[in-house]
Amino acid sequence: MTVAKPTYYELLRDPRWYRRRAQVIELAGRTCQECGYCQDDQNQDRLDLNVHHKKYFPGKAPWGYEDDLLICLCEICHDHRHDLINNIRSLLGKYDKNELLKIFAFVRDFRHDDSSHKQRHGGDFHG
Ligand SMILES: [Zn+2]
Repeated sequence: MTVAKPTYYELLRDPRWYRRRAQVIELAGRTCQECGYCQDDQNQDRLDLNVHHKKYFPGKAPWGYEDDLLICLCEICHDHRHDLINNIRSLLGKYDKNELLKIFAFVRDFRHDDSSHKQRHGGDFHG
């Protein structure tokens, strides 16, 4: 007899995820890392804080991610981020393979623009 593997949704109800989630929220100072909403502010409309996985690794437990792959977001920013990701995914459907490879390379290197920006404006730049 085999025991069914818990679904990802079920894992999100595991006490280990609740502990990890609370830890990330505390580390972030109970503040949305995108808009700065702080749950400790005396706001009348209190928003829930969520912990978002910036990346998913199939088969990895939700609580097994390093701090830099988890981000504390208010419910509005969390929904917005998921909507954006879904919109990007549906937009990509119209491109052919070579276009997708170009987009992939652009997105993969996007953060590297920070270092090329520094290079362009740093001391090593000639011209
Ligand atoms: Zn927010």
